[in-house]
Amino acid sequence: MTLDAAVLPRSNASNLENFWMPFTANRQFKESPRLLVSAKGMNYTSVDGKTILDGTAGLWCVNAGHGRRQIVEAVERQLRTLDFAPTFQMGHPIAFDFAERLAAIAPSGLDRIFFTGSGSESVETALKISLAYQRAIGQGTRTRFIGRERGYHGVGFGGISVGGIVNNRRTFTQLPGVDHLRHTLDIERNAFSKGQASNGAELADELERLVALHGAETIAAVIVEPVAGSTGVLIPPRGYLQRLRAICDRHGILLIFDEVITGFGRLGAPFGADYFGIKPDFITTAKGLTNGSIPMGAVFVSRNIHDALMTGPQNLIELFHGYTYSGHPVACAAGIATLDIYRDEELLTRGAKLADKWQDAIHELKGLPNVIDIRTIGLIAGIELAPRANTPGARAYEAFVKAFESGLLTRVTGDVIALSPPLIIEAAQIDRIVSVLNDVLKRVD
Ligand code: PLP
Repeated sequence: MTLDAAVLPRSNASNLENFWMPFTANRQFKESPRLLVSAKGMNYTSVDGKTILDGTAGLWCVNAGHGRRQIVEAVERQLRTLDFAPTFQMGHPIAFDFAERLAAIAPSGLDRIFFTGSGSESVETALKISLAYQRAIGQGTRTRFIGRERGYHGVGFGGISVGGIVNNRRTFTQLPGVDHLRHTLDIERNAFSKGQASNGAELADELERLVALHGAETIAAVIVEPVAGSTGVLIPPRGYLQRLRAICDRHGILLIFDEVITGFGRLGAPFGADYFGIKPDFITTAKGLTNGSIPMGAVFVSRNIHDALMTGPQNLIELFHGYTYSGHPVACAAGIATLDIYRDEELLTRGAKLADKWQDAIHELKGLPNVIDIRTIGLIAGIELAPRANTPGARAYEAFVKAFESGLLTRVTGDVIALSPPLIIEAAQIDRIVSVLNDVLKRVD
């Protein structure tokens, strides 16, 4: 479809053909596009001038809300001062400053920071450092990774291999030797649980089974999302993550928490690791790191792991890994301004204050047509609909389109409507989200 340039203020995008859109049904979208042209606070404005309440913090990333002046000014200042400088055998102060600020809010001991450009790169980085560490401590036979069904760890070859989403995997070659835990969603036993469900901690024992099958001495690391977002909000049952940590400890296996979604306050604590009271060996992050403003990721690495790799002759590179944009000065400036906002507005813990209101409001949707489960934790919700016969995903997609037409941005994955609003959300906006969905779900057959 070709759009009249007149309806695209501040944009020259008069045709939609050239941008091959990611994770999008391109032909369907281009026939009937949804375009956003500006954003402020909790709201987007669409190309036709409508206000759209952001129920998803963009893509789980704009935790402090849109258009934050401090971030804009920090980015502009940095671009004027030092637009780019290498971090290979060179450095610039702001990257060290940002790493120090991140270390200060990290769970204790996870204070060595490796910068990347995205969540996918953070995952590849954590996987590679796991291998390097195991080798450095004389455990070079540990080359296997364990992921989990329905896990999402980005789109690199490592990430899709440890991930558990068939559509992301079947077309592509994968890493050898990867195995998967079962996912933890159990609607039959746990439907409409508020927060963590009580059934399912024993699913962590799957790791013992995989250890028995492959041999602990072949396994480098386990990677899981503390709360899986991308495949429809899968909340770990009570006790599950603790059990996983204990089994990893027992067998010398590293534990990677992929917190690209749960990092930076989404659960009402700075990290999922804080929320669940578990210390992983790595935390992978991106998204909320810069409030979504400039692409960047960061891996929080245990100091022990870092130190084990700081060996050999002083003149040799210790880890043959890194990205041109690792510690990009402009992204660091955006990140520091973001951390200032999080600190000044207490956003990393604000979700804890709103969680009860959020949970109660979202659970009011129970009983509406086709709603078979509702899952909530922190400022996350998943509303699962029964799939239509032979067309899985179609019902939730229709709800997503209708919600958008009613001025609410949601995210759909399979037949789950996922919500993850900016952490600045107010009670009245929570009510509005629920009221729009209430109306929409009555109109979706
Ligand atoms: N890991 C998790 C848990 C994610 O949710 C995502 C993205 O949604 C990623 C990794 C990949 O991040 P990116 O899209 O920035 O590469």
